[in-house]
Amino acid sequence: MEELKDEKLEQIIQADEAFYMPVFGKRVPLVVDHGKGVYLYGTNGKKYMDMIGGIAVNTLGHDNGRLVRAISSQARKVIHCCNYYYNEPQTMLAKKLVEMSFADKVFFANSGAEANEGAIKLARGFWYHKGTPKPKIITATMSFHGRTMATIAATGQEKFREPFGPVTPGFEYVPYNNLEALKNACDAQTGAIMLELIQGESGVHPADFDYVQAVRKFCTENKILLIIDEVQTGVGRTGTFFAYEQYGIQPDILTLAKGLAGGVPIGAVLANKMTGTGFAPGDHGSTFGGNPLACAAGLAVVNEIESKGLLSNVQSVSAYLQKKLNNVAKKTGKIAEVRGKGLLLGIELDSGSAADTKMNLFEKGFLVSSIGSNVIRIAPPLILSKFQAIKFISALQDVLEGKE
Ligand SMILES: *Cc1c(COP(=O)(O)O)cnc(C)c1O
Repeated sequence: MEELKDEKLEQIIQADEAFYMPVFGKRVPLVVDHGKGVYLYGTNGKKYMDMIGGIAVNTLGHDNGRLVRAISSQARKVIHCCNYYYNEPQTMLAKKLVEMSFADKVFFANSGAEANEGAIKLARGFWYHKGTPKPKIITATMSFHGRTMATIAATGQEKFREPFGPVTPGFEYVPYNNLEALKNACDAQTGAIMLELIQGESGVHPADFDYVQAVRKFCTENKILLIIDEVQTGVGRTGTFFAYEQYGIQPDILTLAKGLAGGVPIGAVLANKMTGTGFAPGDHGSTFGGNPLACAAGLAVVNEIESKGLLSNVQSVSAYLQKKLNNVAKKTGKIAEVRGKGLLLGIELDSGSAADTKMNLFEKGFLVSSIGSNVIRIAPPLILSKFQAIKFISALQDVLEGKE
């Protein structure tokens, strides 16, 4: 039995090497078969606690009843119709997001990068249609905004752009959490500032409260739009539906994607009253964006977060995890820092490699991601219980102490 299952893994790895572009390097040796709740099951028959949740995507975990029913009943009605026509899930999800947020208008895309493309176009289009074009956009170093041509230009990390130049012009990068640098970079051509509230992809670095407040004030005073990229932090991930709520500000434009439809591809651009009319008819669009299947899934996710009280679960499990992780830090001396908010946490190791720690956790049945040489990131489903959290903590402690 065991032999046969290992054969499957070898087959898939070989075929992947033959047929798939090698962009992911060497992957974790697991062929995912199915999932249930916070667990994923491999074709090897083993069960893994999914502490990465598809990178902050599987908001409700796996095989959630409401989500599966919403997707299958929508699929039976209609999966896709083009945007020549109206569809109810699209309109209802847009309405729901407006009711829950600062926003006045919504546009749906299919991914985080695509939502950010929309936000960048919206900011430029807004100033263009006003008759005062201001194409320059300031972003932060170590940010991540996606992998399309404009979003690699927005991403403040040279390694993502280097092979692909010339990149889209009009972007400038300033150090994160540094107000003076930001102010100095802005001029009459600056139309927008684009920031994450937690830099997820570069090691889970949260923005300072005072910095975000000051940036908002500076933007308002200088007629610069504030774009907040909540592709990773949105949809309950940080313990509030949007992370901006915890910073006491409102953006002009905000993007969502990862967690919004619980795994069905979707992206969203949210805009306030002023910028929501920045696109004229014909300026922007999408074949798939806002299709009934993805929007029905999005509605199910948002409704389930509300009806199951998942925001308060995120808050209490997060507080518990942080307390226990800090205890492990004290006991083992192997953790330098625990950062983040809600169920988006970075565990910076003091010594030892994050990649090795990830693989050791994998061997014990836990899935996490490693960032750079020394950060472990967790972004589990929002349904994670304290009982499950403590199992992860004790496995991590064993790994850090080198126990089998
Ligand atoms: C993941 C991510 C993106 C890109 O999303 P894709 O769906 O992979 O295109 C953009 N911004 C942030 C903050 C992200 O975490």
